[in-house]
Amino acid sequence: MPKVTFPRMGESWRAFKMLLEDLGNEVVVPPRPNKRTLDFGVRHSPEFACFPLKILMGTYLESIEMGADTIVTTGGVGPCRAGEYAMLHQKILNDLGYDLKMIVFEPPRLYPFNFIKNVWALNKARISIREIIAHIKRAWRKLQALDNAEKLSHVVRPREVKRGTTTTVYRKVLEWISEAYTTEEIVEAEAAALEALRGIPQDFSKDVLKVGIVGEIYVLLEPASNLEIEEILGDLGVEVERSMFLTGWTRDNTWNETTQGLTVKEAASPYLPELVGGHGRDSIGHTILYAGRGFDGIIQLAPFTCIPEIVARTILPRVSKDYNIPVLTFFLDEQTGKAGMTTRLEAFTDLMRRKKRFHDVSTCLTG
Ligand code: SF4
Repeated sequence: MPKVTFPRMGESWRAFKMLLEDLGNEVVVPPRPNKRTLDFGVRHSPEFACFPLKILMGTYLESIEMGADTIVTTGGVGPCRAGEYAMLHQKILNDLGYDLKMIVFEPPRLYPFNFIKNVWALNKARISIREIIAHIKRAWRKLQALDNAEKLSHVVRPREVKRGTTTTVYRKVLEWISEAYTTEEIVEAEAAALEALRGIPQDFSKDVLKVGIVGEIYVLLEPASNLEIEEILGDLGVEVERSMFLTGWTRDNTWNETTQGLTVKEAASPYLPELVGGHGRDSIGHTILYAGRGFDGIIQLAPFTCIPEIVARTILPRVSKDYNIPVLTFFLDEQTGKAGMTTRLEAFTDLMRRKKRFHDVSTCLTG
């Protein structure tokens, strides 16, 4: 039986593992990226490759060490390098002597036959289409439950009475959702998870700031790649709202783009009417929408050398000025350190608090 792995993006692996096992595959869960992963990835990737490509390279090598021989991943369209990732990874891995199978899912909206062919290739249990659809629906429900628990943790963390409680409870409830199998169990586990998070003692008199996080999908979704920025901000008394979750991105890239996706494009169009690839245009659109909702600041997360986010970064100072909202950009790579990031976030938090108090002018910084 083939041993299947996939890119690790936050906690979504819990739903993907369940789905792939339901289809009759043996799954190698990709390990959480760490220093060793990065060292591996950097060593075996082109120097100027995007940061996510390097982390994924390291993750794949670690998964291969654990026995994986098949990688399931996504392709992509548009004017950036994302669509070439799978091919490049496969070429590098082949050059390193690994004979791997790569199953690449292109956006089903544009390539429906690719989707059907790939699902069938993964259907080792040879179950019916009806059963496959039921398994996909259940995995989707699990993804939603995971996203909902994470969203609530972002609201609770800055208000918690005892620092660290939210993170402890959040890790525990993830296991509950993970262990749930039937739809009923998933719904029950989600309800229990949300209740446990809401039950954390909170101080509602705290002056909590609200920050929107925008940027490239991988560094938004995988905490190991952004040095757990959401936790750092929560500990600094900042509630974060992330512009992208896997469920939202999947909805916009499967059968139909949602009205939410269209609104983001509309908001961005006076500044950036063109598709620049990746999520550059979304970063502009979300910044404008967050400003309209009265957020205190924006943080842009961009992989080093990511062209779409560099384009967005050149436009954000104008957006920041026009909408009077501070914006801080982090270009992330293997050199980025947590201590330096924390110091910049502390300074940004001070700036937002002062601005809130004195209605200061806009600011756009690069971290
Ligand atoms: S979006 Fe940015 S980081 Fe991702 S592949 Fe494109 S250029 Fe690279």
